Amino acid sequence: MNPMLNRLRLLTPGPTPMPEEVRLAMARDMIHHRKPAFKEIMARVQKGLRVLFGTQQPVLSLSCSGSGAMAAAVSNLFSPGERVIVAEAGKFGERWVEIAEHRGLQVTRMSFEWGTAVDPARVAEELAAGKAKGGYAGLFVQVSETSTGVLHPLRELAKLTRGTDTLLLADGISAVGVSPCPLDEWGMDCLVTGSQKGLMLPPGLAFAALSEKAWRKAENVTPGCYYFDLKEERAACDKQQTRFTSAVGLMVGLDVALEMLLTPGLAALYRKQWALTRMARAGIAAMGLPLYAAEHYTWGLTALAMPKGVDSSKVLAAAAKEHNVIMAGGQGHMKNYMVRVGHMGYVDFGDLAAGLFALASALQAQGVRMAAPDYLEQALAAYTKGLTEEPPLP
Ligand SMILES: *Cc1c(COP(=O)(O)O)cnc(C)c1O
Repeated sequence: MNPMLNRLRLLTPGPTPMPEEVRLAMARDMIHHRKPAFKEIMARVQKGLRVLFGTQQPVLSLSCSGSGAMAAAVSNLFSPGERVIVAEAGKFGERWVEIAEHRGLQVTRMSFEWGTAVDPARVAEELAAGKAKGGYAGLFVQVSETSTGVLHPLRELAKLTRGTDTLLLADGISAVGVSPCPLDEWGMDCLVTGSQKGLMLPPGLAFAALSEKAWRKAENVTPGCYYFDLKEERAACDKQQTRFTSAVGLMVGLDVALEMLLTPGLAALYRKQWALTRMARAGIAAMGLPLYAAEHYTWGLTALAMPKGVDSSKVLAAAAKEHNVIMAGGQGHMKNYMVRVGHMGYVDFGDLAAGLFALASALQAQGVRMAAPDYLEQALAAYTKGLTEEPPLP
């Protein structure tokens, strides 16, 4: 910690900073999870979650991190032996593969280069080729691949599975509340997220919503795990409950967080995320550093590759020590070659300006010259412009 600075700035793609309103709400004493006061909170939270997920279906709350909801979805929607495609281009795509294999599914893995998006045309070919083998029961993908900062074309992929027996499972852990991914409108079959990314909460809660088609499939599947039984959770949710003891403190925080996110409206929320993304990309491009996701980029984080010979762990350590800015490195084989700047959840342009300054200073300390000394002005100009634009439909 640098004693000249007032606070730590958490610019990681989860966990993300928490508003004071949420922190104070969570500091209150415990209430009982089967009593009316808690059911009122559950009813409000349910309404807000449905807006955020873009669905008329119940959004189930599970006491686990985001991966728990991914595993719950797979274990409730597929029986061992079924064939699925995992279309992936990063660390979290690999997680779908691991979860599917753990459930005993026959996985066709379609890998795309890190930093690029899944190609719907190739997925369409594989779905068609699979018909000879009895068809694919599932297609698993990330909405936003957090390890590379890429946004996959979910709308296009959903067109391939809609009206077929293939269920489209979307990991929206770094997308829900960050960029539009409406379950019903796009025709996905399952959308999951976690509490510690776009939702401005501590880790510990995960959420899952299923389409009607997915619920029909779930009727014929015996869940692989006693605790994560989505049909039982849905029955509890209908009564403003969770099946087992609710994560009461997190739910109280969620109630406040959803109000903060939804009061200005979804359009305002996405526009802010879009403007921050424009800001990060403009600043990093002006520094002369390569943006990792060239085309289909996520709105909640920006990934950049390190110049030759620069170790990102040193850059991150310097940014933390000198400027109290905490950013993330790469994952997997990119561990020491990448920096990921998080700007989802409770992050504003001031935090991001501090982040870009810390990044530039730390790089300069490693001998990297900034291509444009006015990188911060360029970043702020892009932010201002981003706020006035209509964000593109992802
Ligand atoms: C963070 C993240 C996960 C993992 O979530 P946990 O809460 O750590 O289990 C999975 N997928 C994506 C896309 C993520 O961003």
